[in-house]
Amino acid sequence: MLERSFEEIRESVRALCRRFEPAYWQKLDCENAYPEEFVRTLTEAGWLAASIPQEYGGAGLGLSEASVILEEINRCGGNSGACHGQMYNMETLLRHGSEAQKRGYLPKIASGELRLQSMAVTEPTTGTDTTKLKTVAVRQGDRYVVNGQKVWVSRLQHSDLMILLARTTPLSQVERKSDGLSIFIVDLRAAIGRGLTVRPIRNMVNHETNEVFFENLEIPAEDLIGEEGKGFKYILDGLNAERALIAAECIGDGYWFVDKAARYARDRVVFDRPIGRNQGVQFPIAESYIEIQAADLMRWKACDLFDRRRPCGAEANMAKYLAAKASWEAANVCLQTHGGFGFAAEYDVERKFRETRLYQVAPISTNLILAYVAEHVLGLPRSY
Ligand SMILES: Cc1cc2nc3c(=O)[nH]c(=O)nc-3n(C[C@H](O)[C@H](O)[C@H](O)COP(=O)(O)OP(=O)(O)OC[C@H]3O[C@@H](n4cnc5c(N)ncnc54)[C@H](O)[C@@H]3O)c2cc1C
Repeated sequence: MLERSFEEIRESVRALCRRFEPAYWQKLDCENAYPEEFVRTLTEAGWLAASIPQEYGGAGLGLSEASVILEEINRCGGNSGACHGQMYNMETLLRHGSEAQKRGYLPKIASGELRLQSMAVTEPTTGTDTTKLKTVAVRQGDRYVVNGQKVWVSRLQHSDLMILLARTTPLSQVERKSDGLSIFIVDLRAAIGRGLTVRPIRNMVNHETNEVFFENLEIPAEDLIGEEGKGFKYILDGLNAERALIAAECIGDGYWFVDKAARYARDRVVFDRPIGRNQGVQFPIAESYIEIQAADLMRWKACDLFDRRRPCGAEANMAKYLAAKASWEAANVCLQTHGGFGFAAEYDVERKFRETRLYQVAPISTNLILAYVAEHVLGLPRSY
């Protein structure tokens, strides 16, 4: 897979996605089921190990290439939400994991023996105010004992490993509120039923996500990633990667909506002419296309900076903001263009419409991106 151009990656991923027709995604959506066969096929083709270095059995590609893979899945009508976790969680492990952790996990993730699809950050009572999270990990000899609760932990039931953010030093004892947080790589096979309980959350999209309860869960001390207390700084790399990748998925969705709307507008004849001849129908589609193209530029900027290990917090946030906005507008336009047929499940529009709506809220809500830019880029006073 090494040294493949973006276009070659696109073509290969598209060829794989063609094997999973709309009926496949419709059935899963209807049954609220996980796309196990699709994720297995992607894994076997090596795509979910794209960013694992070659020496550990992966392809050694960057975030830019990973973003193309996820973009194409969504552009082909699928949903990367079932598997994107492995791409961004990987960055936390790659950049901050020890050599022993990399040797222990990466070859098995690359071969598909293990999945690293889950990340547990959000908590029910603290939400976006991450540094106030209440889950604690207390060192006792050669282990940490974890107590607390997380919410919206996605893909946990289809993953073997999970990145966990927990407080290891009480908030009252740290100088800066982002200090005293640590990250761990949790072996879910050992944890579930032995201190970790999982409760699925039924939600608006077919997205496997869960409430998670920790009650004296014991984690071996060697599963701490990096230095104790520095976890917030480490996890930001994973979160920036996540934002840039979600931007790419939204761009994939956006193109899917525009293509679908344009095709329908050309074909659908009402009042003895294609509806697309009416400027009231064609202008919103053209506008959506322009907005997706513009968002795409910021996505490339964010990925490029990330791959060059340069600061990219602002660009990753802005890419996610622009792309999520553009894909949501495109979804709305596509639904409107289809009239009543947009509501019929067999057209896939209503499913993709629901799926792309998520990205205004997760992994970071639009307001919080605006607050980040206001404060960190424009130097305005903190609002929270
Ligand atoms: C389907 C799904 C999957 C998810 N998967 C994961 C996962 O795998 N792992 C994980 O850790 N999390 C996950 N999340 C959680 C997601 O990241 C959070 O829902 C998101 O960050 C928002 O947090 P919250 O829901 O607690 O909202 P809150 O923080 O309660 O905010 C609610 C609303 O108030 C606004 N708001 C809050 N504070 C301010 C402020 N100071 N200024 C202006 N507006 C403000 C927000 O913008 C938001 O619109 C998932 C969520 C969903 C829905």
